[in-house]
Amino acid sequence: MTSPPSPYGSDQQSSAPTGPGAGADFFLANYRLGKTLGIGSFGKVKVAEHVLTGHQVAIKILNRRKIRQMEMEEKVLREIKILRLFLHPHIIRLYEIIDSPTDIFVVMEYVTAGELFDYIVEKGRLREDEARKFFQQIISGVEYCHRNMVVHRDLKPENLLLDNHSNVKIADFGLSNVMRDGHFLKTSCGSPNYAAPEVISGRLYAGPEVDVWSCGVILYALLCGSLPFDDENIPNLFKKIKGGIYNLPSHLSPGARDLIPRMLLVDPLKRITIPEIRQHPWFRLHLPRYLAVMQADTVATSTHVDDDVVDEVVRLGFLRSEVAESVKARTQNKATIAYYLVVDFKRKNNSNAYLREEMVEANDVMLQHPSGMMGQSGTNLQQQRMVVEKRWRLGLTCRGPPPHLIHEVLRVLQRLHVGWKKMGPYCLKCRAVLGHRSTCSPNRCRLMPASAPSRAGSGGSDDMEPGTPQKMAQAKDSMGDLQLSDASAPPAQQQQILKFAVQIYKLRDGEYCLDFQRLSGDLFLFMDLCGVLLSNLRP
Ligand code: ADP
Ligand code: MG
Repeated sequence: MTSPPSPYGSDQQSSAPTGPGAGADFFLANYRLGKTLGIGSFGKVKVAEHVLTGHQVAIKILNRRKIRQMEMEEKVLREIKILRLFLHPHIIRLYEIIDSPTDIFVVMEYVTAGELFDYIVEKGRLREDEARKFFQQIISGVEYCHRNMVVHRDLKPENLLLDNHSNVKIADFGLSNVMRDGHFLKTSCGSPNYAAPEVISGRLYAGPEVDVWSCGVILYALLCGSLPFDDENIPNLFKKIKGGIYNLPSHLSPGARDLIPRMLLVDPLKRITIPEIRQHPWFRLHLPRYLAVMQADTVATSTHVDDDVVDEVVRLGFLRSEVAESVKARTQNKATIAYYLVVDFKRKNNSNAYLREEMVEANDVMLQHPSGMMGQSGTNLQQQRMVVEKRWRLGLTCRGPPPHLIHEVLRVLQRLHVGWKKMGPYCLKCRAVLGHRSTCSPNRCRLMPASAPSRAGSGGSDDMEPGTPQKMAQAKDSMGDLQLSDASAPPAQQQQILKFAVQIYKLRDGEYCLDFQRLSGDLFLFMDLCGVLLSNLRP
């Protein structure tokens, strides 16, 4: 059996024009471009019509040259790939990425009611019920990103768009970063007014808590119609943010007066977390059922195929088997893009869709079903939460209090002759001088006293010899058997400098993560050293 001719003709990329300004018309043959919706940092955002289905989309045009100038190319592509898999009612959906020599075209869901920013400017401060509705939607979308290991990092009302039902859609993941286990994100970015103190201080930071801060600023803006931290003079603005200096107007309800300061806590370890926000009485009031239930997984893990939608796509000229298989296999092709566009438009127009459920409050449902709410997959709410919390365990988790933990870490560092410099209350930069692997006896390696005892951070040579494969293999063998000694230092040329950061961050109530990040030096020596450090910590 042979396939019918593709409704699009030959594959777009097969005879791609090259050179500067190579036509958007050629690369966007499946779309009819319309007016400009907004101008972004890398290029324009335009409305367009998907020719085959007739549905409207927004196309963000990212200029490769501009991205390259900012050294963002690889990052932008990686993040876009992840976001293409997201499926959440309050996150702008990405349908397709089209590459051309000059631009990257991001085809996404089009929303018509503009930015939340303009809405606040026009209306002034919102009533608490309306602000809460927006806030619940934002938190649910942000939680979904975090659960899929993405931190947005540029949350602000300009990046929150509204659809024609006044629902929020989180947009602009241009600065978002993918959280990596045990790694902190080092780039400072975002808009100063919404940026967390640890971000503008340029410290290492973990991720989710910076989005919580920005959501706190947004909540303040929704309820007060102004920004908590504002100053024309940037150094003054930074001072206010770092000091957590802002006014809470008296018109706020007790619940909001309690929640906002918890979100705008300067110390990221004390700041409220998303699961804690979910438990807050102000947040829980009138929480719609569809937001109380954890959203289903990303598109990538969903295997459900809607037969009615397949029928519709087949009517557009595709083979039934091709559509169903492509959707199941999660391939990106013309059939799946048409499929997802039809799914989304169907869901929006469907009278049984999630937006109708908005009218049902979570608490009502709880009363009707005292045994617990059931999610789509049949697991109850409690179980779904557990999954999320499990995914959050990165690095070594321990129980607080943080000052005790950091004191214990310092005790062990001192004992092992590792120098340190305090970068913040819970962040250290450390420097260890180790005996050269090849000079150590088998399965033994020596940790040397730092040249400036205790608080080293400087002194000694910072020049590092790159690790040889042999050396690494030996280091791997000796894992967990590091010989610690402060006696008889070998000559300087046989020493290795290892630099790493230690940071504590909050996981949830009472639980903290102790994270080690290698800054420079041999990876396996670093792993050896972490093993020794951890085994010396008293529970
Ligand atoms: P930038 O990264 O440069 O800030 P954005 O993604 O925020 O780019 O897009 C710039 C502007 O374009 C937005 O503030 C909004 O007004 C408009 N816009 C972006 N995406 C959409 C969309 N999906 N639907 C409607 N308008 C959009
Ligand atoms: Mg933006």
